Amino acid sequence: DVPKIYVITPTYARLVQKAELTRLSHTFLHVPQLHWIVVEDAPQPTPLVTDFLAASGLTYTHLYKLTPKDRKLQEGDPSWLKPRGAEQRNEGLRWLREMGSAAKGKEAAALEEAVVYFADDDNTYSLQLFEEMRYTYRVSVWPVGLVGGMKFERPVVEDGKVVRFHTGWRPNRPFPIDMAGFAVSLRFVLTSPQARFDGDAQMGFLESSFLQHLVTMDDLEPKADLCTKVLVWHTRTEKPKMKREDALQKQGMGSDPDVEV
Ligand code: UDP
Ligand code: MN
Repeated sequence: DVPKIYVITPTYARLVQKAELTRLSHTFLHVPQLHWIVVEDAPQPTPLVTDFLAASGLTYTHLYKLTPKDRKLQEGDPSWLKPRGAEQRNEGLRWLREMGSAAKGKEAAALEEAVVYFADDDNTYSLQLFEEMRYTYRVSVWPVGLVGGMKFERPVVEDGKVVRFHTGWRPNRPFPIDMAGFAVSLRFVLTSPQARFDGDAQMGFLESSFLQHLVTMDDLEPKADLCTKVLVWHTRTEKPKMKREDALQKQGMGSDPDVEV
């Protein structure tokens, strides 16, 4: 069998959640040996996500971890104020480490080959991306499209090595690289218990807070034709307008709340 890919996805309840999860799951259904770790930002598993996963046809683990209130973006806060999804990704890592320490024999050997990827629920992923990351020794990297106010950001490769980063903003961050732009070998995650996301990280430093415990720039493994191909896009979904819904609701004629959207 080819190495497994463990994909950790933080997700939270909002109008577009089921649409995002549907799109994402339909991508993942095309990827062999993918195990989806879905971590809800919620105090308990929600019926929507529970039922969705049961019907998805994917191999998955369903977890939940509520972001503490003081760490959560409040209505009206600028979107860059606090990192999103940090607690949930850490919960996914916790589950992997727990599973890793319980594994024995053939199962443990398979884990040695596996890779971990952090996939937000709203991005757009090419199938080729998963084959690029599948064989990762420590940390592999590649370009991300439509991110950071740029057409793309990417590691710059010279003589097969990452030597710097093409980014529009604070290039001197330890790893100026989006969450969608790297994968880590599971073996490396399991042997590096200090590697976790810092929920208090400054804007743009969440990825660095994780990666700087693991590698230096010199160790990065460039994928996607030496980082010349964009295979993942940091797309964001517009918040749907509910003007008519709100108006009808005031007259007691809102859409049936028993219909799941
Ligand atoms: N997320 C979450 N709780 C929140 C906000 C976001 O779990 O309160 C998740 C979201 O579903 C996504 C990830 O964290 O998978 C990153 O969030 P978002 O896509 O909003 O961030 P951005 O696109 O701005 O980087
Ligand atoms: Mn996003």
